[in-house]
Amino acid sequence: MHSLKRAIKLKVKSELRYIRTLSTVSDIRIYEVGPRDGLQNESKFVPTDVKVELIHKLAAAGIKNIECASFVSPKWVKQMSDGIDVMKTIKRSPGVNYPVLIPNLKGYETAMKCNIEEVAIFPAGSEGFSQKNLNCSVEEGLKRFKEVAVQAVKDGLRVRGYISCVVGCPYDGPIHPKGIAKITEELFEMGCYEVSLGDTIGVGTAGSVQRLMREVLKVAKPENLALHFHDTYGQGLSNLLAGLEFGIKTVDSSISGLGGCPYARGATGNLATEDLVYFLYGLGVNTNVDLVKLIEAGRYISNFLGKMTESRVNRALSDRFKNHSDIVKIAACTVN
Ligand SMILES: [Zn+2]
Repeated sequence: MHSLKRAIKLKVKSELRYIRTLSTVSDIRIYEVGPRDGLQNESKFVPTDVKVELIHKLAAAGIKNIECASFVSPKWVKQMSDGIDVMKTIKRSPGVNYPVLIPNLKGYETAMKCNIEEVAIFPAGSEGFSQKNLNCSVEEGLKRFKEVAVQAVKDGLRVRGYISCVVGCPYDGPIHPKGIAKITEELFEMGCYEVSLGDTIGVGTAGSVQRLMREVLKVAKPENLALHFHDTYGQGLSNLLAGLEFGIKTVDSSISGLGGCPYARGATGNLATEDLVYFLYGLGVNTNVDLVKLIEAGRYISNFLGKMTESRVNRALSDRFKNHSDIVKIAACTVN
């Protein structure tokens, strides 16, 4: 009897802590990766003007961080071969951050021709994925990215670090959180202001995310981390909720759920930005993103690609609401 009482007490205590954490979820920073992470997986080449229009639509919807391009070799990723043109053509809105992905110093030099303020580097969290995606070991990759980070910091740029395959790898299987914590630490040491933990193939669950967070938070503050989930097993939002409980403030997402991974069979796109925004409104977090305009942006790119949007929120709400505040009421369940 005694132990039952104790168990109930503990359970209530942990529930209360959970509710307290969620009630303080506020000011979530959305980091849109659709024009880069999303489109780079599309086989149909998206012309520069369509990419630019998509970026404009995202900014008009209120998204403040839009990853626009990647300066990897066009031999690897043809879809991203017009990075310079994209960056030179976009009309930049005040207060919007337009980061780009940089693989090495050569890519960095090219990117610097087009007024860049933030760069992202992307070591892998597993040996197998590093060999396949970067053609080198994790350690060699870190060395290469450090050269970029050091130079970018010297030039007064912000540097963001991505770690891919943080919970599972298509070649190495489950990934131990300790290794990810070590890479996170190294990325901060080389000057990153933020590290985004990427479940590149979308195999994570709330449980594996919790284990990862416990380890990584030994070396980093939650406000300096971001979470990047793919929705392969439909776990994107529950994984995110698990991460938000630890105080994470930045979330990567992709318009319409665009994306995938060429090295992981069956891996679907990123957590869709429309789904994320709806979810956050439901938690009472004001994202300042206009969901009607966001849905329009998702439709625009999905129509161009000739496919149905992967965002369930987009599918459920488009054509039904013309007014953003009506959608917010639904998300918050305050509709009559
Ligand atoms: Zn991704």
